[in-house]
Amino acid sequence: MTYRILDDAGLQDWLAEQPELSKRLGGTASDWSIREVSDGNLNTVFLVDGPAGALCCKQALPHVRVAPDWPMPLERALYEVRYMRAVASAVTGLMPELFAYDADLFLLVMECLTKHEVLRSALIADRAEPGFSALIGAYVAWTVQATGWVNQPFETGARLLEQFSGNTALTRITVDLILTDPYRICDRNPEPEAGLLDDVKALQTDQILHRAVGQLQDRFLTARQALLHGDLHTGSIMLDGTDVRVIDGEFATMGPIGFDCGLYLGNLALHLCAAPQKAAALRAEMVAFWRSFSEELRSGLQNGSGDMWALSGSAGRQDLIASFLRDILRDTAGFCGLEMIRRTVGFAQVADYSLCSTENDRLLARQKALQIGRTLIVKGASLRSFDSLLFLMGL
Ligand code: ADP
Ligand code: MG
Ligand code: MG
Ligand code: MG
Repeated sequence: MTYRILDDAGLQDWLAEQPELSKRLGGTASDWSIREVSDGNLNTVFLVDGPAGALCCKQALPHVRVAPDWPMPLERALYEVRYMRAVASAVTGLMPELFAYDADLFLLVMECLTKHEVLRSALIADRAEPGFSALIGAYVAWTVQATGWVNQPFETGARLLEQFSGNTALTRITVDLILTDPYRICDRNPEPEAGLLDDVKALQTDQILHRAVGQLQDRFLTARQALLHGDLHTGSIMLDGTDVRVIDGEFATMGPIGFDCGLYLGNLALHLCAAPQKAAALRAEMVAFWRSFSEELRSGLQNGSGDMWALSGSAGRQDLIASFLRDILRDTAGFCGLEMIRRTVGFAQVADYSLCSTENDRLLARQKALQIGRTLIVKGASLRSFDSLLFLMGL
């Protein structure tokens, strides 16, 4: 079958021809109900309910879903599948199970998270059960252990590099939207609100900031430490009570570990700017993320068998782990700052700012995010502890 954009009826017909998937749903096609839930920028997502079970079906479109005149290669679905396959066994329970992939339709069929809610929405509605960040920290550490040169023979990384280096269309989005556009005049940037014009202009002319952004571009494009999720914001996480899942790995690429950490923390920090009354709870989440990430990674590396450890005895290994974690922290700070700025003035902004009750509050929240973002980008490279990162956030 050749590619076609599926609607409810098209998906129902296709599913009816897949015995394994039909069996998971139960009954016959007429018993199934299908609804579209797409809320991301790129793809179409359908949830299918049957008498015996439910499925989530995600199809890549030949363009950006929210900008149909922006073409986008279909192959991103393949990279999402490869990512799920590369990390699934390392992150058991933290990702929906993949049931099928149709290479002609660029369609993934996975476990349906029926009772889960997207973390960003849960945060906005103030109904996220505290503690989720410890699981996200463990998730990142486990993906690093499974894919990173630090814990694997270099051949593992070489193979992953080969599998993911073709994901250039989505890496291009990262390079443009996160690492470049907010710092230049560009058609993709939305018109800023009037009160923010001077701040946006400052981003475009700040030489010190531009030099630090350039260094982060270099880190992103040249540090091949581990397989990144690549889009680990609070809209790529779903939760149901204490059950936490990471979705949407289509941006996967080999890169600096601090990129995933920074995007995640940056989205918590954006929420903090929009809802400063939640500072204590958000600080606790950030601390829990970093503690869990660094402890999981440290304990994995203590017994790690990557080539990196061949020369160091146990004392040397402690030193090497500490300096490795410090370098990740520095990247984390920088990418956190980039995420805060791009989600505040760039193409894809965040709904968290809707929490501000007046226009002036919203302006102040955005200015705060830009200020913290700049500080993290410019000062991140000399950080020595996670506490000092929190300090730069005013926490
Ligand atoms: P995009 O790549 O377009 O951002 P996502 O993978 O983020 O697509 O999915 C878009 C939305 O679909 C999510 O925000 C979520 O509401 C829903 N969704 C995605 N995966 C699942 C799943 N496995 N189960 C239930 N809902 C899902
Ligand atoms: Mg998404
Ligand atoms: Mg989404
Ligand atoms: Mg996506």
